Amino acid sequence: MRREDDRRSAPRWRAVLEARWRIRLQELTELSMAYHGAASDDSDDRRARRLLHRAVAARQRLADTEEALGRVTAGVFGRCEQCGALIPEVLLAAAPESRYCARCAGAATGPLTAGALATDTGTAAAGTASAGTLATGAGRR
Ligand SMILES: [Zn+2]
Repeated sequence: MRREDDRRSAPRWRAVLEARWRIRLQELTELSMAYHGAASDDSDDRRARRLLHRAVAARQRLADTEEALGRVTAGVFGRCEQCGALIPEVLLAAAPESRYCARCAGAATGPLTAGALATDTGTAAAGTASAGTLATGAGRR
């Protein structure tokens, strides 16, 4: 029964993740271009380093989303990688890239759960990239 439910919701999660993937790809592209612009300007070293840092984080988030899409394909999306329990829908809605249930995530404080979104907020506040703000908004809903 549960298994069927999982399968039924898979296309929905795939659509959600693909939308996030596109946003993150755009965010990464914008950050990369901004970085290369800043890096070619010698006087703007600090800004370049900050942008590089954000681009690296954006690339990691993109990779997280790709991995989550891979889990949808493999039919294991929404299951805790640690204990195999179903990850609560509400947690997935907030962060579909979550790999662990709340209990395991709390024990491990994995970088791929809510923490990644919190980082998002920090970088968006610093920033120029509207895509970052968008991604955070999508994650919070
Ligand atoms: Zn777990």
